[in-house]
Amino acid sequence: MRILVLGGTLEARQLCAQLARRPALSVTVSLAGRTAAPAPMAVAVRSGGFGGAAGLAAYLSEARIDLLIDATHPYAAIISQNAAAAAAQAKVRILALRRPPWVRQPDDRWIEVGDLQQAVRALGDAPRRVFLALGRKDLAPFEAAPQHHYLIRSVDPVTPPLNLPHADYITARGPFGEMQERALLETNRIDVVVAKNSGGESTYGKIAAARALGLAVIMPRRPSLPNVPSVARLEEVLDALDHGDLATARGV
Ligand code: NAP
Repeated sequence: MRILVLGGTLEARQLCAQLARRPALSVTVSLAGRTAAPAPMAVAVRSGGFGGAAGLAAYLSEARIDLLIDATHPYAAIISQNAAAAAAQAKVRILALRRPPWVRQPDDRWIEVGDLQQAVRALGDAPRRVFLALGRKDLAPFEAAPQHHYLIRSVDPVTPPLNLPHADYITARGPFGEMQERALLETNRIDVVVAKNSGGESTYGKIAAARALGLAVIMPRRPSLPNVPSVARLEEVLDALDHGDLATARGV
């Protein structure tokens, strides 16, 4: 069976490591190509966009892919829409591996907003010390609120830097534990966090740390994703492959 995994997440990497151990499978993982030095993969890697749904459909046909696994980040809505459309066009089975969102705990001070522009507005007018735990392509809207002091963490450096008078940059690659995140928030005297509801364990540390410190978390809501068969855990992908019941994975 020839499988294309759409990746860019820890789960995709872990899934590829498991799939690589199955000699009957020929697996390629696709990365968007945004990270300069992606973490090593256990399977063949291709990198860069396909050129929309039509480009992905052409790739699926040319590479004779039997199964497309969408293991992209839950906020990567465009590639997920393209994956659903391309799979339908190329008549290739599709399975999405989607992390369930984090669930608000009693002491969480989450402020859910519709998008990044609303997140900027939710910071308010008075200057605050803000931790932006977002991707590099999500940062530009914050230039509209230069009164705040920002701490910005990304895997690769933000180049050019944002047009902001008060911004500190750090580069780091997760996972990040709660104690490590708490130390970061305290050292930098952060009073509000902006983060996506990514789900999973590897980036939950900042959410738990914000709760422990009584800090608000401004959280853009998840985008809507296409209605394709989907599972929440990579073990369920392996089960579906082992039992040949890909068609029975539940729709969302
Ligand atoms: P997006 O907005 O949904 O996609 C934008 C375009 O990037 C797509 O149309 C596609 O270009 C290309 N693309 C995205 N993922 C790709 C992949 N795995 N392989 C090949 N091309 C891909 O995606 P995004 O939010 O920028 O995310 C890009 C990557 O970063 C994804 O792999 C995602 O899993 C990962 N990531 C995203 C976030 C997040 O918060 N969005 C967080 C962590 C990791 P074409 O139309 O030319 O094919």
